[in-house]
Amino acid sequence: MPVLVMKFGGTSVATLDRIKRAAKRVALEVAKGYDVIVIVSAMSGKTNELVGWVNETSPLYDAREYDAVVSSGENVTAGLMALTLQEMDVPARSWQGWQVPVKTTSAHSSARIEEIPSDNIMAKFGEGMKVAVVAGFQGISPEGRITTLGRGGSDTTAVAFAAAFDAERCDIYTDVDGVYTTDPRIAEQARKLDKISFEEMLELASLGAKVLQTRSVELAMRYKVKLRVLSSFEEPSDTAGTLVCDEEEIMESNVVSGIAYSRDEAKMTLQSVADRPGIAAAIFGPLSDAGVNVDMIIQNIAEEGRTDMTFSCPTDQVMRAEKALNDAKDAGELNFADLIADTNVAKISAVGIGMRSQSGVAAKMFQTLSDEGINIKVIATSEIKISVLVDRKYMELAVQSLHDAFELEKA
Ligand code: ADP
Ligand code: ASP
Ligand code: MG
Repeated sequence: MPVLVMKFGGTSVATLDRIKRAAKRVALEVAKGYDVIVIVSAMSGKTNELVGWVNETSPLYDAREYDAVVSSGENVTAGLMALTLQEMDVPARSWQGWQVPVKTTSAHSSARIEEIPSDNIMAKFGEGMKVAVVAGFQGISPEGRITTLGRGGSDTTAVAFAAAFDAERCDIYTDVDGVYTTDPRIAEQARKLDKISFEEMLELASLGAKVLQTRSVELAMRYKVKLRVLSSFEEPSDTAGTLVCDEEEIMESNVVSGIAYSRDEAKMTLQSVADRPGIAAAIFGPLSDAGVNVDMIIQNIAEEGRTDMTFSCPTDQVMRAEKALNDAKDAGELNFADLIADTNVAKISAVGIGMRSQSGVAAKMFQTLSDEGINIKVIATSEIKISVLVDRKYMELAVQSLHDAFELEKA
């Protein structure tokens, strides 16, 4: 039997009724002759609540216990989904990550999947089971501890299963009917894309478009998984949603294909560090050792041998970053006058493979923001993206005005 992977995100399993609705979709695919692997998220809001409990209990928590707590939301939905399917006379059972087992690295709270042996589940399919419901977002480390894959990680579970089981397709069911030119909740002029290239989706995801977890796109690209994003609330149809595919499959696209934003980015400034060889290593070495993901970096002009160094990192890593830098200062490895964390910023990015061959995108972006009176605090560019850090209060305005400026509402 061909295998199909269907993933349901938090909103799609938020209530027992919605689980029933999702189960009906699964039953439709079973009726078509598929063996289905269903990956479920926790009910919406559940993971946030669990993370909140961990933070309240222990701000600089032991990541192994964080994973033990936050992985639990998915266990509930996996069992409920299996029960719902059984009630519909569809032979189904649930699996937690460790039971499959989904083998991951030991990088707790952001583990990577290393291997998914298929024999367990395949044996059950062989015995007539039709649906394997697997708890997303979780796995087991070589040490035998429960791990999680980072926020949004059920997408990655889904794509990894699709690759491991050579699935015909991986359908990601969510609360929007596809990938849009920007988050439709921020800009109502956003347009749904029928197709988007892996590369552009990868950039959009890593720059904040949380419709797919970055790692899931990476895996889909590497293992050539046919990946589709669609709504669990719309009527089933073969042409629904957005297909994430190779660049060659897309006939035409705009220079900029999407705008992403992230409000989870903080701007950190080290004031008055020595302007000497090795200073960047002395700052970013300890940050890297502490697991801080630094994105944008600027070093200001030096005056009298001292300079300011600014970088951005995820908001939830600010405390770790501060600790790492203060520890380095206390150890005499680094000297600075002050460390200022600005969490009132947002990162706005324009993404498009057309930027490789067309210049002027950056200029247009800066002009647009300037026309709106929005000050740019930090800039970063790469081959197919331009990102800027702005005051968070301008986030929506920046996204909308850039969407207009690049005429993304037009195909
Ligand atoms: P799920 O719980 O199903 O995993 P998520 O909340 O993780 O859903 O992702 C879906 C959300 O992603 C949408 O509700 C939308 O607000 C947001 N989003 C951000 N950027 C985009 C985009 N470019 N296209 C579609 N959705 C986007
Ligand atoms: N429940 C997890 C989260 O909210 C994983 C997921 O939904 O993909 O991040
Ligand atoms: Mg998600």
